[in-house]
Amino acid sequence: MTSTTGRLAYLRDEQSVEIREYPVPDPEPGALVTEVVQANVCGSELHIWKGIHPVLDRMVLGHEALCRVTDVGDGVETDYAGEPIEEGDLIAPTYFVACGKCEYCGRGEFRSCENALQHWLEHPDEFPHFHGTFATHYYVHPEQHFYKVPENIPDGVAAAANCALTQVLFGLDEVGLSYGETVVIQGGGGLGQNAIAVANEYGAETILVEGVDERIERARSFGVDHVVDFREYDTVEARGERVAELTDGRGADVGVEVAGVPDAFAEGPHLLRDGARYLEIGNITPGRTAEIDPALFTRKNIEVTPTMRYDPWYLKKGLEFLSRTVEKYPYDDLIDAEFDLVDTQTALEQSDAREITRASLVPHEH
Ligand SMILES: [Zn+2]
Ligand SMILES: [Zn+2]
Repeated sequence: MTSTTGRLAYLRDEQSVEIREYPVPDPEPGALVTEVVQANVCGSELHIWKGIHPVLDRMVLGHEALCRVTDVGDGVETDYAGEPIEEGDLIAPTYFVACGKCEYCGRGEFRSCENALQHWLEHPDEFPHFHGTFATHYYVHPEQHFYKVPENIPDGVAAAANCALTQVLFGLDEVGLSYGETVVIQGGGGLGQNAIAVANEYGAETILVEGVDERIERARSFGVDHVVDFREYDTVEARGERVAELTDGRGADVGVEVAGVPDAFAEGPHLLRDGARYLEIGNITPGRTAEIDPALFTRKNIEVTPTMRYDPWYLKKGLEFLSRTVEKYPYDDLIDAEFDLVDTQTALEQSDAREITRASLVPHEH
């Protein structure tokens, strides 16, 4: 048994983080023990921290991370793409599992796995303690997909791979975005900027609906083709007309809702053409509602595709995408503040107050 201990950020109470210390476990067969090199604060962490997440509550925080393998369980020879794995390798794990055994996994609907978050939700007193990534260590379970990180991806960018980038890459594949199409993206946060990068690489024309200067500037550095500034176009109708103007009078082929507000979803069909596909990712908190005109979806034959999580092997594609495009897009700019693990509470407070855009915890030097 190893005698080392590690620390983790446990959400003891609403908006109250406690740093706890636990022994670093030995890995079971098929599992990995890792050190967390960098872990990003995501919007959903803020939801959990504030107590408004529909599923997640008192738990070890953190789901985005770049990890360094420190202990390889018996039987683990490669990552989930067949790349050899040994101590010292940098990996990105999925933040959920696809157990392969439940009703949904049995139907091939892996992102709806009934056990997706079972490990993350465990109390830290339970083995293997390190259930979340806001910690010095992170435990990767035998059924949990993980991939070796290409060397050219910077730490903070690799840490975000398992959430925003992979999520939009999966979503845009689900709606079949293809060359020459127009895509309207509602919201220029991290998901929106990543969606611009993916849409650019797919050869689509991008339109961003946003009203915050900093986000608009960033979108331009990500190569967005058009911006519909909602301070200038300040009604749904005006924005719909502007998008129509930019798309030969018809509306966009594909819409992506990553603003995360109910009204954005209600606005979606106004921005889209007949027969469009509409990807819903941003709204994740039930109980917040909007006034919807369902007939717009019917009359326009709009196909709505929601995505919660992704098929776990998409993380490999996400990492390859980042590796190929890391020089082209300023992914690094999406993170603007770094904190020590002991300052997790401060990182969350400042993120919530929007004093910073995207915080990152750096428990170990790379
Ligand atoms: Zn995330
Ligand atoms: Zn399952």
